[in-house]
Amino acid sequence: MLRQEPSPFSAVAAAGRLRAICSIAYSSGMEHLLEVSSAGMLVASDDAATGLRAVGREFHARGWSLGTSSNYSVVLDRDPLELLITASGKDKSALGPDDFVRVDASGRLIDPAAAAGRKSSAETLLHCLIAEQIPAVGAVLHTHSVWGTILSRAGLSAGEQLSSLRIAGYEMLKGLEGIATHDTHTDVPIFANSQDMVELSHRIKTVFDAADWSGDGRPPLHGFLLSGHGLYTWGRTLAEARRHIEIFEFLFEVTARQRMLPSA
Ligand SMILES: [Zn+2]
Repeated sequence: MLRQEPSPFSAVAAAGRLRAICSIAYSSGMEHLLEVSSAGMLVASDDAATGLRAVGREFHARGWSLGTSSNYSVVLDRDPLELLITASGKDKSALGPDDFVRVDASGRLIDPAAAAGRKSSAETLLHCLIAEQIPAVGAVLHTHSVWGTILSRAGLSAGEQLSSLRIAGYEMLKGLEGIATHDTHTDVPIFANSQDMVELSHRIKTVFDAADWSGDGRPPLHGFLLSGHGLYTWGRTLAEARRHIEIFEFLFEVTARQRMLPSA
């Protein structure tokens, strides 16, 4: 009589494989991946700087915020508007507790003495604009990912100032606030990049002003791209903004990879 061998697909075998994978992760110096898995808890922390530091570690590990690129902010107060934002030139893989500054609605430092020489990011004005234009916003996140950069360049012709990327039909769209079905689309504005933040913020404000933000449900925009540069998105909380980055990055990658497939 044949002895019954455990199926390689049994729960016991699966648990063994999982243990093996975990031990490989540890032994091959991949501890940072396990650290990333706890980022969600830290992002939900009451302390804004702790949450933003966790975002930096995770986004760097996932290739969305390499080097000193990207900037992140949390709304600390609304009356008057006050943001905690990453200081300029900080490596996002190793943000320290003091690598942030507080700014007002104009992007000016609220307490220059406390900033101790740290400057706010050049793109602070865009964070202020988003926080002012959308009263429900609690956090604004900006990343420089490969797929977002590729799509942003492909979507804007030379000389154009504004275009749009349509993403349609994906189940993952449901990760964006207010979307409950795959059978829909989202349009992501693409703005020509600029080093003049005042001029760029005027162009973005024009598009925001034309959108209807009055509804309780699905917002008219979830984010925008700067051509050859990166993504801005936001959320009512830091956790929601972080989720929007994750969802957009998935949607950008599948959209770009889909375009690379030979047509049937
Ligand atoms: Zn940037």
